[in-house]
Amino acid sequence: MTNLNDVTKDAKKLANDYVHEVYELIKKRNSDETEFLQATREIFDSLRPVFSLHPEYISNGILERLTEPDRIITFRVAWEDDQGKVHVNRGYRVQFNSDLGPYKGGIRFHPSVNTSIMKFLAFEQTFKNSLTGQPIGGGKGGADFDPKGKSEREIMRFAQSFMTELSKYIGSDVDVPAGDIGVGRREIGYMFGQYNRLKGGYEAGVFTGKDPNHGGSLGRKEATGYGTVYFVEEMLKEKGLSFAGSKVIVSGSGNVSTYAMEKAMQLGAKVIACSDSSGYIYDENGINLKTIKYLKEENNLRIRDYLKEHPEAEFNEDCSKIWSIPCDIALPCATQNEIDEKAARLLVANSVKAIGEGANMPCTKEAVVRFVENEVLFAPAKAANAGGVAVSAMEMSQNSMRLSWTEEEVDEKLQQIMKNIYISCLNAARDYGRPGNLIIGANIAGFLKVANAMVAHGVR
Ligand code: NDP
Repeated sequence: MTNLNDVTKDAKKLANDYVHEVYELIKKRNSDETEFLQATREIFDSLRPVFSLHPEYISNGILERLTEPDRIITFRVAWEDDQGKVHVNRGYRVQFNSDLGPYKGGIRFHPSVNTSIMKFLAFEQTFKNSLTGQPIGGGKGGADFDPKGKSEREIMRFAQSFMTELSKYIGSDVDVPAGDIGVGRREIGYMFGQYNRLKGGYEAGVFTGKDPNHGGSLGRKEATGYGTVYFVEEMLKEKGLSFAGSKVIVSGSGNVSTYAMEKAMQLGAKVIACSDSSGYIYDENGINLKTIKYLKEENNLRIRDYLKEHPEAEFNEDCSKIWSIPCDIALPCATQNEIDEKAARLLVANSVKAIGEGANMPCTKEAVVRFVENEVLFAPAKAANAGGVAVSAMEMSQNSMRLSWTEEEVDEKLQQIMKNIYISCLNAARDYGRPGNLIIGANIAGFLKVANAMVAHGVR
């Protein structure tokens, strides 16, 4: 590789102009897609040195092609509630890029789902999947359906109707969905069942995140949360720090949050607060995870019900205030843009040492700048939360081989993958002149693999 020091002024200008021009084009084309523009901007800012060293990416139009999804599928999802009333939601699947393998990414059921959110998630997923080193492309899907307050039968009817249309576009070598917000094992079961019913067979590898009793991988449920903690532990180690003895705050109390809390506790941390969309709880004695699992995973109750078992804890209905509690490590694991600049200032003022993004894009651009300026260790989502999709890819392998690995085998592979991702981020950051900056390192390392495959596969 040519050294960055050898890059001429002209090459730098060419790279800057290219990034600027493509961003202007994307802004014009997607002017109302706030989250998608936020995600592309964040990546573009990191890639300037790459284009100054690799003009072949410019001549191959990599950025223009990489920011336009292969296709966006939207469809009507009609379903009947328990009273026989018909409802219509909008379903989505964004198949972003398949240069590294079949499209891969979760399905989200949440009222906020729209084209911008689907595109930002599928775009990020492409880089994340590349970072895992596994043969998977990037995609994402979902619907603006709110599972809250729906009966089990209503959820089943919705999931079946959603899959009836989606089944035309997916397949184990084409596009392999998984869960995300509002989509857990139960919903995956209904969708997987409907797919096989429509196709008249049993195609194990068409969905990941399945129940381990019915073709799923052991360790998948825990993978994103555990993986985030493994990644952050690597980052802390570098500075002589660790989870042991640290005070930790985890936002959310869903799949990612629960298992991030579990692993942080196993490594000796005290988790003192967590939340759901209706507020947060603070328990200075340390959150009781058994109660959280009982409330959220097993009974779909609200986080405020924690106080019935633990009256010494406090409940506050403003979930954004969770970041005002002093802590050593903050793991935002709920949703996008949950830490804004104000929250970041509070965390910095309270001497937070590390942030690990378990959710996708949970920190705004301004919040990230604040953390970097104050030298807070920062683990970006596309690297830190890649453990979920990494184990999903393992599920695909096990399904193909028709065998199952033990929980220990999966966990060992997961730890190794998170370590490898950490090292590739560090190496890319160093090679491109920003040593230690994992945000830039993750963007560049994720980009290079996809870009090289795109060059190899020709213009299409
Ligand atoms: P879940 O639906 O299981 O959990 C989401 C949790 O966040 C719920 O507890 C929800 O509360 C809470 N929540 C939602 N909005 C807020 C808010 N504004 N403030 C506080 N809490 C809130 O989703 P997942 O755990 O699967 O996903 C969480 C994040 O992680 C998403 O960004 C997702 O894209 C990302 N991710 C998930 C992966 C996975 O394997 N599941 C893989 C990689 C990334 P309530 O119960 O009230 O709805």
